[in-house]
Amino acid sequence: MLRIIVPIKQVPDMSQVKFDTEEGRVDRSSAAAEINPFDLNALEAAVQIKEKLGGIITTISMGPRQAESALRDALSRGADDTVLLTDRAFAGADTLATSYTLASAIRKLGEFDLIICGEKTVDGDTGQVGPQIAEHLGIPHVAYVSKLEEVGEKLVVVCEMEGERYLIESDFPVLIAVTKDINTPRLPSLRGKLNARKAEIKTWGAEELSSIAEKGRFGTQGSPTRVHRITIPAEEGRKGRIFRDTSDEAIEEITNALYRYKG
Ligand SMILES: Cc1cc2nc3c(=O)[nH]c(=O)nc-3n(C[C@H](O)[C@H](O)[C@H](O)COP(=O)(O)OP(=O)(O)OC[C@H]3O[C@@H](n4cnc5c(N)ncnc54)[C@H](O)[C@@H]3O)c2cc1C
Repeated sequence: MLRIIVPIKQVPDMSQVKFDTEEGRVDRSSAAAEINPFDLNALEAAVQIKEKLGGIITTISMGPRQAESALRDALSRGADDTVLLTDRAFAGADTLATSYTLASAIRKLGEFDLIICGEKTVDGDTGQVGPQIAEHLGIPHVAYVSKLEEVGEKLVVVCEMEGERYLIESDFPVLIAVTKDINTPRLPSLRGKLNARKAEIKTWGAEELSSIAEKGRFGTQGSPTRVHRITIPAEEGRKGRIFRDTSDEAIEEITNALYRYKG
């Protein structure tokens, strides 16, 4: 029976969200929140493994109290247990502090075999947190996993990176970060939704992690990243140009324009 951990992040609906360019941050109150779409693929991969081999899936999220709804959503889609990491001390975390906090909580949970992350989030979009968690825990990781070939004594996965496909084998425990190609996430079941509504959500703050983590590595204090400026690039509309001439110079001009477009 595999013990699987799925870190999930609650993100704003990116088609609605507004940016606070003065403060240099995403205005999370401007849009509805949902589970990061890539994390639904991670959860689905975990549920499929559980259905085949048996297992326990624990989802874990660091965020404000509202992230509880993302964890309930995860329960309704097949997770067994959840932990919400929420505390003012965790606020202002960059990816290093986020991954450190998540890794500390995973340590506190005890033994595990497999951690499945999404490839990246649709708001932060760095893809750093998964591999960083693995580094904090001192375990191997494989990113950009598009297929699980074998889950048994060992884990064999297909990793697709920059147009190449790699077949990678690893012992447990291991962390993988999965792409959207790995599966199609299922919808929550009605029974799952009803159970999730009543479920207890474990909530841990800095105090609960104090026996295994250094408080100075949480939140703003533990974040070396500084955001200097946030800008929204101006959208360039289509620029039409008509070439009427048929001379050699005109042909050269068209050829150069096409090369510029291709480059
Ligand atoms: C200086 C600074 C201050 C910031 N302050 C805040 C803040 O106050 N509040 C805030 O919300 N964000 C804050 N952020 C953004 C925050 O750092 C990132 O959202 C977070 O570290 C995750 O990075 P990412 O979104 O790029 O995740 P990625 O690395 O793209 O995510 C990959 C995978 O990691 C897992 N994962 C990522 N984040 C979480 C999470 N929180 N919980 C569980 N699993 C996760 C998921 O499986 C996800 O698919 C700040 C960033 C900076 C640079």
